[in-house]
Amino acid sequence: MAKKADGGNVVVPILEGEDPWTADELEEIREDLVFDVQRMERALATSARGLERLFDEGTEGAGRDPADVGSSNFERDQEMSLAQNARDLLDQAQTALRLFDAGEYGWCESCGEPIGKDRLMAFPRATMCVTCKQREERR
Ligand SMILES: [Zn+2]
Repeated sequence: MAKKADGGNVVVPILEGEDPWTADELEEIREDLVFDVQRMERALATSARGLERLFDEGTEGAGRDPADVGSSNFERDQEMSLAQNARDLLDQAQTALRLFDAGEYGWCESCGEPIGKDRLMAFPRATMCVTCKQREERR
């Protein structure tokens, strides 16, 4: 059976000219991802409670000042976009973590090339290389 050169640890690809990953760096990346997942789960829970409160406020008290209703609708929209944002980030972090544990971390999900160490150190959640990410954002 083929054994990986580093003794079975996850092998994450690098770009030409980058230094190979050290075990410590990979450990840090994984910790970052786990931390992100936990942070986003907490943010979502908080935001769900906030939304509940806002919806409650929105339904009780007929005959309220329209200005109050308007500001609470605004608050609700804001809270919902925050929640959406947290959900997206949670999704990204969970995907990256899953890829990491599957030993498939660090490959661009779009073109299949290495994402690169510099980029992953800065954005551990990245699942696309810079080129593909920019192309996607231009769409
Ligand atoms: Zn790519």
